[in-house]
Amino acid sequence: MNILAIESSCDETAAAVVRDGRTVLSNCVSSQIEMHTIYGGVVPEIASRKHVEAVTALADQAVEQAGLTCANLDAVAVTYAPGLIGAVLVGVNFAKGAAMALDLPLIPVHHVRGHIAANYLTHPDLEPPFVCLCVSGGTTAIVDVRSYTDMAVLGGTRDDAAGECFDKVARVLGIGYPGGGPMDRLAAGGDDRKYDLPQAHVSGHELDMSFSGLKTASLNLIHNAQQKGEELDLPSFAASFGRAVSQSLVPRAMAASRKLGYGKVAVAGGVAANSRIRADLQAACAQSGDKLFLPELRYCGDNGAMIGCQGYYEFLAGHTAGAELNAYATRDISLG
Ligand code: ATP
Ligand code: MG
Ligand code: FE
Repeated sequence: MNILAIESSCDETAAAVVRDGRTVLSNCVSSQIEMHTIYGGVVPEIASRKHVEAVTALADQAVEQAGLTCANLDAVAVTYAPGLIGAVLVGVNFAKGAAMALDLPLIPVHHVRGHIAANYLTHPDLEPPFVCLCVSGGTTAIVDVRSYTDMAVLGGTRDDAAGECFDKVARVLGIGYPGGGPMDRLAAGGDDRKYDLPQAHVSGHELDMSFSGLKTASLNLIHNAQQKGEELDLPSFAASFGRAVSQSLVPRAMAASRKLGYGKVAVAGGVAANSRIRADLQAACAQSGDKLFLPELRYCGDNGAMIGCQGYYEFLAGHTAGAELNAYATRDISLG
C-alpha cells in the first residue's frame, strides 16, 4: 500500500511516499528555518503562507522521487494536529483535495504519533508495546504505546516543552534558532557540573516534569553574567543545561518502563537527536536491561515519512476521514 503523506504543522513543509508503513520510497522536506531565523522563532502567519507556496510542488516531487505516478497511490495521510493552526490547515486542505481528486482514502495522523512511528522506520523489528519518551519543540510526554494506535500519556511537562526550553536559552545566548542542535554541539567538551541548574519535581506525580524553572534560572544566570561583564564558560553552561534536561527526562522514562514492564524503551521528536539524552538513555537501559530504540537522526525532526508510517497503521485500524476533517492546534495523543 503506497501512502502519500503530508506534514505542515510547524516550520517544515514535508511530503513523503511510504509503502506498507515501513518502506520509505521518498521523503522531501522544505524547511522555512532561514525565513524565521531573523525573528528568532517561528512567525505563524509567515509559516502558513510558506506552506501554501511549497506544498503542491513538494507532493509532486515526493511522488516522482518514489518512482510512481498518482495512479500508484493508495491513500493520502496528513498531520491534522497538533501544531500552529494556520499551518496545519494548509496540509489538511491540500490532503483533502488530493484524496478527493484521486478518489483515495484520507487518513488523519496525530503529529506526535508520527514522531513515535519514526522508530518503526529505523527498527524493522520494533512492535508495540513499549514506552516512548516524546520530546520536541511543543511536546514533552512519556507515552504508553500499547499498540500502533492505542496510546496513553503517563506523564509530561506541566509548562514548557524541553525543546522550547533549549530554543529560548539558545536565543538569549545568540547561538541560533532552533537552538537545540547548536546547544548540543556547544556542550561537547564542556564540564557538565560547572553550573548548578535546578531540576523541578512535581510532588505526587513522579512522571511529570517542569522546565520553566530551569529556563528562568538559565536566563537569569546568562543575564547576570552579561550585566557583571563576566565571561560565561559557554561549553560548560551548555553541558550543564543538557545534563539538567536529561536528568529530568531519562529517570522518569525509566520509571515508566519499570512500572509497565514491557522491557522496551523508545524516544521520539526533535529533541531525541540530543547526544546527551541518547547517551544517558543508553546507559540507563544497559543497566536496567531494557532494549533501547533510538530513531535515526534524519527521522527525529519533522518529516513526512513518519506520517506515512503512522498513517498506514491508522488505516489498518479503520481511522479514515472525509471532507469534514478539521485541524486542531492541540489534541490529546490518546484520541488519535
Ligand atoms: P511538536 O513535535 O511538539 O509539535 P515541533 O514539531 O516544533 O513540535 P520538532 O520539529 O519535532 O518540534 O523538534 C524541534 C525541536 O527539537 C526544537 O526545539 C529543536 O531545538 C530541538 N532539537 C533539534 N535537535 C536537537 C538536539 N540535538 N538537542 C536538543 N534539541 C534539539
Ligand atoms: Mg520543526
Ligand atoms: Fe514535531
